[in-house]
Amino acid sequence: MTELTDLTIAAARDGLREKKFSARELTDAHIDAIDAANAALNAFNLPTPDKARAMADASDVRLANGSTAALEGIPLGIKDLFCTEGVRTTACSHILDGFEPGYDSTVTTQLWSAGAIMLGKLNCDEFAMGSSNETSFYGDCVNPWRRTGDETPLVPGGSSGGSASSVAAHLCLGATATDTGGSIRQPAAFTGTVGIKPTYGRCSRWGIVAFASSLDQAGPITRTVRDSAIMLGAMAGHDPKDGTSVNVPVPDYEATLGQDVKGLKIGIPKEYRMEGMPAEIEERWQQGIKWYEDAGAEIHEVSLPHTKYALPAYYIVAPAEASSNLARYDGVRYGLRVPGDDIVSMYENTRAQGFGGEVKRRVLIGTYVLSAGYYDAYYLKAQRVRTLIKQDFDKAFEKVDVLLTPTTPGPAFGIGEKSGDPIAMYLNDIFTVTVNMAGLPGISVPAGMSSEGTPLGLQLIAKPFDEPTLFRAAEVIENAAGIAPRPERWW
Ligand code: GLN
Repeated sequence: MTELTDLTIAAARDGLREKKFSARELTDAHIDAIDAANAALNAFNLPTPDKARAMADASDVRLANGSTAALEGIPLGIKDLFCTEGVRTTACSHILDGFEPGYDSTVTTQLWSAGAIMLGKLNCDEFAMGSSNETSFYGDCVNPWRRTGDETPLVPGGSSGGSASSVAAHLCLGATATDTGGSIRQPAAFTGTVGIKPTYGRCSRWGIVAFASSLDQAGPITRTVRDSAIMLGAMAGHDPKDGTSVNVPVPDYEATLGQDVKGLKIGIPKEYRMEGMPAEIEERWQQGIKWYEDAGAEIHEVSLPHTKYALPAYYIVAPAEASSNLARYDGVRYGLRVPGDDIVSMYENTRAQGFGGEVKRRVLIGTYVLSAGYYDAYYLKAQRVRTLIKQDFDKAFEKVDVLLTPTTPGPAFGIGEKSGDPIAMYLNDIFTVTVNMAGLPGISVPAGMSSEGTPLGLQLIAKPFDEPTLFRAAEVIENAAGIAPRPERWW
């Protein structure tokens, strides 16, 4: 029999309904997997096995009563950016030490109403700032994948490194994640998993620790496109508590799967060819184009002329919003408090000791670009560039239905290889930040292996709220490349 930890969400859901195993058995199998792996992978910064068992037992009662809720009995991991009632939530920052929210985020509330079970909180970059999970206060998270014949520990990507690592290592069936500039799609690409960042406004941001509010979106990381569709269906929806949440009905994403892509127009943005990009990334991209041609789709070259300004503009807008959002961490309201002689030195001591280096860099940059005299030169200009980027996409979508690009400019790199060079790190986001700047949905799908034996991903981008087309197109890659295998267990 297949191990319970090898099931997809779809197969586990069906098995639970058919009473082949219980939610408790499924949950216990994942708790055992976490126990065996977490010392090596550091994917969970807070496993919650007791809570998981209690939730599983409650789910078994509902299953016995015939519950067919979308995620009934499915054990998931939750990125430590989502508030979870009574369970420590820190955004992997020292400054939120000991913070136990009095409420759940809307997304997690919806997951629990759909019957899901929480296995624990997942490691991530501090306040989701990073591309490698190396800025976490809880230490590096490790990618379960290694280069062939090489034991160098690799990053799982970031900021949702724990989400990607735990799903790839079969420690949970799926995980929540967030994406401000690529933090769902880049780790998905590095770990052979599927990661979707839905349209801005599709999932509520309420109760998710804010990084850059005009860019942040929640989405799932899973092992298959079908699982992604199932999980996003449970996470998405209108929420009056988030003013940017959009009141558009959530389609049955799973029901839109399995349709062919004959005649679908696929755009290839010519500007997504970076100098110095490894030949194998270009080869994967060409392979993707071939898969769509074979499936009967039409390929069109399109131009997104402002692409080269997206990264610099993002690294003004995101820090600006972060500096404002992070002003609330002052030692008074929640988390860490480092005493001082008076209130000002208490603020200073708390923020100096509570924030890590990357977060301080962003707060400094953000404060600078928002300051009087520089606001027009930096922040306002970046916002104008953002409009131009959005217009590029609008124009492209007059001609095509989806865009196909690489997700990242290279495969997973080694821990420590880029952490000393912020610019090299930021370049990882080159193909993903444009999508956040324009508020569009984007998905990364495993598309085969690098020459080093590690996963590579291709990215698809669609019009606002056209996640159904994204899933449908994503299946073409999944069918051609195959679902990524479980990485060899070395832990
Ligand atoms: N790597 C990007 C950054 O550091 C994106 C992070 C994210 O999407 N949360 O800002």
